[in-house]
Amino acid sequence: MEVKKDEKICIMIVPHTDKVKRILIPSWLPKASVVLLSTFFIGSFIFLGVTKNSKVNLEQQYKEKIALIDQLEKENIDKDSQLSTLRSQADELYSKSDEINSKLDEIDRLQKRLEKMADMKSPSRGGSISRDINLKELEPIEGMDVLNEVLEDKKLELEVFIQDLESRFAYLECVPNLMPVSGRITSRFGNRRDPIRRSIRFHQGIDIANSRGTNIKAAASGKVIFSGYQGGYGKTIIIDHGYGYKTVYGHNSSLLVDVGTRVEKGQSIAKMGSTGRSTGSHLHFEIHKNGSPVDPFSILN
Ligand SMILES: [Zn+2]
Repeated sequence: MEVKKDEKICIMIVPHTDKVKRILIPSWLPKASVVLLSTFFIGSFIFLGVTKNSKVNLEQQYKEKIALIDQLEKENIDKDSQLSTLRSQADELYSKSDEINSKLDEIDRLQKRLEKMADMKSPSRGGSISRDINLKELEPIEGMDVLNEVLEDKKLELEVFIQDLESRFAYLECVPNLMPVSGRITSRFGNRRDPIRRSIRFHQGIDIANSRGTNIKAAASGKVIFSGYQGGYGKTIIIDHGYGYKTVYGHNSSLLVDVGTRVEKGQSIAKMGSTGRSTGSHLHFEIHKNGSPVDPFSILN
């Protein structure tokens, strides 16, 4: 290869057999080629780098998207299962609501029977909430709230009812309606001919005759306020029952309880006798209401 003066470069090709070939190229061409090739390689290198980076980024984004889709699908499945649980709960609620309503009716009937048994005049029964609500028309959550409210209301009503019953029973325990002794009624309440003086006298109790020593029972629970001898009444017990009631038991042969003793309805308090102004073994029994004697048969069962 021979270099000519800055202008051209002469390339000579010398084959073995043929003539020598001369190719003339401009002198700037090799330099330009080097620059071009360098540029090309550097460009390619940068391009490949960028492409590689982009590819990595895209893969990363793709993976993230896939993960997001997976998560959303999972959440969707969770929601679906929650929804189906809620639906089955609602179905159960609907089927239960009829059952619960019939149970509530049953409780109502029982309450009515108890009121009748306890002879209650102003029961607190009758809840404020209407039970005609159709739960099927409500959203499950709302339906459950309503049902809870109904049951809570019934619970409160029953608590009050039980309190009423308890106070009613406590009151009934204090009403002297238990016959204090069995026997023959020999004298009733009211005006009668006095068996001793043979004149009309007001008899403020009833006389029940039986054999001497027969147990005399408290007509109701209460507190003994007198136990001793009292004139014509002989050996006498007086019990204060509260609620304005007092009972008097006269002519006993012996007394079994002292003043201050609390007695239960039906508890033996004395033995029948004929002490005081009496013609034979019998109990003279009085009931006082608010300080006045009343006919025992208006109260006794
Ligand atoms: Zn009498």
